[in-house]
Amino acid sequence: MSTRGSASQTIETIAVIGAGTMGHGIAQVAGASGFRVILSDIDRDSLSRGIRSIEKNLAKGIQLGKLTEDDSERTLQQIRGTTTLEESTAADLVIEAAPEILDLKQEILRKLEVASDRPFFFASNTSSLSITEIARASKRPENVIGMHFFNPVHIMRLVEVVVGKETADSTVDSVCNVGRRMRKEPIVVKDVPGFASSRLGVALGLEAMRMLEQGVASVEDIDTAMELGYNHPMGPLKLTDLVGLDVRLRIAEYLHRELGTETFRPPEVLRRMVSEGKLGKKTGAGFYDWNKDNEDVRSARSS
Ligand code: NAD
Repeated sequence: MSTRGSASQTIETIAVIGAGTMGHGIAQVAGASGFRVILSDIDRDSLSRGIRSIEKNLAKGIQLGKLTEDDSERTLQQIRGTTTLEESTAADLVIEAAPEILDLKQEILRKLEVASDRPFFFASNTSSLSITEIARASKRPENVIGMHFFNPVHIMRLVEVVVGKETADSTVDSVCNVGRRMRKEPIVVKDVPGFASSRLGVALGLEAMRMLEQGVASVEDIDTAMELGYNHPMGPLKLTDLVGLDVRLRIAEYLHRELGTETFRPPEVLRRMVSEGKLGKKTGAGFYDWNKDNEDVRSARSS
């Protein structure tokens, strides 16, 4: 039973706002875990694309022998698509995966609260924005939290639970339980720039670039150091190529500004490559040359 203002502790229905890269993956995992899912997107084509991506992921799971036809059917039956935001107010937990714009996330939260008085948990999948700031738009900031999933959601096991200044302990417990039911490993992190994952991951990537500038080792050898020496599945430079050098530069600038430490000052090589349009895999060139057919990409000279 829910008391006025606080959301129900029993979460059965999850609304996912935004059916893009992250939203469709979150909806898939929630559906597969037995939650009823309302997947909404403002754009009909994006919604259809998101649902098709879920179907494709499930078909791949069947092909790999990880899922049965029944599993796939059951998951799909749990998910209902809509282009109407207000339908999400039927949910106990709303997971917002709309674009990374503070005003937009706040507007979504405000609209939901205007549409219904029924309290719900609101978890943003933001990768960098402050949860405390997002919660300023809410009448019930104690119910607002971060639930940062990783791409691709159906494969990556981490969920970073980000606790804003006003977030209630009961909200933390509830979303951690949802994360576990989704077979994710939740970590609980304070609402600071970069949370835990981006702060550590970006620091490693930037240091690898500084080592490259100083001629410490080649692109491949720096990556191999982490892959073979530390068992990272992928070296920091190759990972930067996958994430996108422009994305990494924006995050580094933000963390440098907000945390005020030299660790996050963007290295020259990163600025230069971005200005040359070498953004990583998406443009075919980054620290590696991605235009080769071969999976085993060649490193590009970057100095
Ligand atoms: P995306 O652009 O792929 O998808 C966003 C979707 O939201 C689009 O389909 C868009 O049509 C929809 N949308 C826009 N405005 C809306 C509104 N008012 N109501 C409903 N839907 C709306 O973005 P993404 O990569 O999935 O990122 C979503 C969030 O997840 C961002 O906050 C991002 O920082 C975060 N994130 C992204 C990744 C990643 O690897 N892409 C990883 C972790 C977190």
